[in-house]
Amino acid sequence: MAHEVPALPYDYAALEPHIDADTMKIHHDKHHQAYVNNLNAAIEKHPELGKKTADELISDLNAIPEDIRGAVRNNGGGHSNHTLFWTILGPTGKPGIGGEPTGAIAEQIKKDFGSFEAFKKTFNETTAKQFGSGWGWLVFKDGKLTILTTANQDSPLSQGLYPILGNDVWEHAYYLKYQNRRPDYLAAWWNVVNWAEVNKRFEKVKK
Ligand code: MN
Repeated sequence: MAHEVPALPYDYAALEPHIDADTMKIHHDKHHQAYVNNLNAAIEKHPELGKKTADELISDLNAIPEDIRGAVRNNGGGHSNHTLFWTILGPTGKPGIGGEPTGAIAEQIKKDFGSFEAFKKTFNETTAKQFGSGWGWLVFKDGKLTILTTANQDSPLSQGLYPILGNDVWEHAYYLKYQNRRPDYLAAWWNVVNWAEVNKRFEKVKK
């Protein structure tokens, strides 16, 4: 079964004014679709991989035949990362969206970073510095929350780390509204984070 772009769980305009509808439409319908199309084209050459999810494929890149390894890394990563991205965001102003984190992740953030403000500042500063296209991530490593960045569409899954939340800092994610002002996009993005979904992901890695 071919990979498919999941439907956006809200309207294109739902994240306004923090992320604009035009950006969401192009990002979801064009960019994510292109990763899926390219992933499917690669997998067609190796039908034995047809049953694996994108997350499974990129979690063990050494197991991917060399002739499609780069394509799976980039496009399987693109599919996995964007699938996560849509779900950890939610409509502006809805309960549980934006604002202070809730639940277990709120406690862990306080424990590992001192406060939500300090965590946000470190996440934004680290992610702002990612040179060129890439992602900022929150993972749980050795019993602690850790912030890291990856280039291109590389996923923490390829390093054996499960992403709890991730922000896309490819220019396609913000350029229409924010142009070169990546820090402004990073600051606004927290207004549409879906903390219930982030907690669900944290529960999966919390031991
Ligand atoms: Mn993107």
